[in-house]
Amino acid sequence: MPEGKVHDVVIIGSGPAAWTAAVYAARANLQPVVYEGEPIGTEIPGGQLMLTTDIENYPGFPEGVTGPELMERMKAQAERYDTRVVSELVTSVDMSQYPFLVTPSYGDPVKALTVIVATGAKAKWLGLPNEMRLAQQGGGVSACAVCDGALMFYRNKRLAVVGGGDTAMEEALYLTKYASEVVIIHRRDKFRASKVMADRVLSHPKVRVIWNSEVTEVNGYSEITGVELTDTVTGEKSDLEVGGLFIAIGHEPNTKFLNGQLELTKHGYIKVDAWRTATSVPGIFAAGDVIDDYYRQAISSAGTGCMAALEAERWLAHHGIGESPILETAEGPVAATPDQVEDPQPA
Ligand code: NAP
Repeated sequence: MPEGKVHDVVIIGSGPAAWTAAVYAARANLQPVVYEGEPIGTEIPGGQLMLTTDIENYPGFPEGVTGPELMERMKAQAERYDTRVVSELVTSVDMSQYPFLVTPSYGDPVKALTVIVATGAKAKWLGLPNEMRLAQQGGGVSACAVCDGALMFYRNKRLAVVGGGDTAMEEALYLTKYASEVVIIHRRDKFRASKVMADRVLSHPKVRVIWNSEVTEVNGYSEITGVELTDTVTGEKSDLEVGGLFIAIGHEPNTKFLNGQLELTKHGYIKVDAWRTATSVPGIFAAGDVIDDYYRQAISSAGTGCMAALEAERWLAHHGIGESPILETAEGPVAATPDQVEDPQPA
């Protein structure tokens, strides 16, 4: 049975987009409820930054900050205002009824006037036991070169990139700035990447490709020392010494629980217009990596979280709930208060 109260804003997620949306919504007196998820296997609330050690490119932290600490601080900032945090996953959102019905894994369903989906995307991993362990402890395994590649840890070392798509090409090129050598390990004899990206990689003096090979073991206890490769044609095994391993085999946005109710892009991300977070269902907004297969940065994710909360606030004001100091919305003019509503004048 849904609880009686109808919430103004329910936020689903616990990465930078979700906490930023919560800070903005809470400061707008919308008393947001955040479903932050729950630990399941290698997945923990806090999103992908929980698998990152030092973050050196989040503005405001000149000495750097660890991913988990940044998430803890963002959550604390949201809780400082009137945010209620529920440590459960959301299993479904029924968008066919209004208010929307948000169902968590254990607790009662709740009703919401607006929902902000900030469930992020999962980097795909190879699934090797040592891979996750070293990724979690900052031991030289990462799924984001732009996030981690510039760390001192990776400088002037031989770095390996796994994958043959555009992401792998981009990561490899980025890493050439810091590495002594970049070795791309690809399971086939042809890249999937666009020709222009592949050509750029193949002509780079610092890049070497090992074709027809899979990483079947990550070596090293506290830090990576190398990888075991298996030739996908002959089955032959070999070792390669590396000082860092970047997994670039794709991302999967966390949208399954939406059950096809929102329009998605061809890559499965929630579709929004440029510089907007409104989705194909009015009243449902989306932010962070679940809408972004291009930037995938903590700061850009936080930025869209802010946008989603402001859009939700304006959307509610537009429908006569609460106030919005801003008079324009994606949908049309919004009054600062309901009694100030004016009919738009014909031009
Ligand atoms: P992707 O195109 O799906 O490529 C994934 C790559 O990883 C493929 O080469 C695949 O091998 C390999 N792979 C997958 N699972 C693997 C496994 N278990 N072990 C070893 N290798 C594995 O993903 P993406 O590169 O992230 O790109 C996603 C989309 O974003 C693409 O449409 C891409 O064009 C776009 N994108 C564009 C840009 C850009 O334009 N600048 C940058 C990044 C991404 P196979 O080839 O054998 O399947």
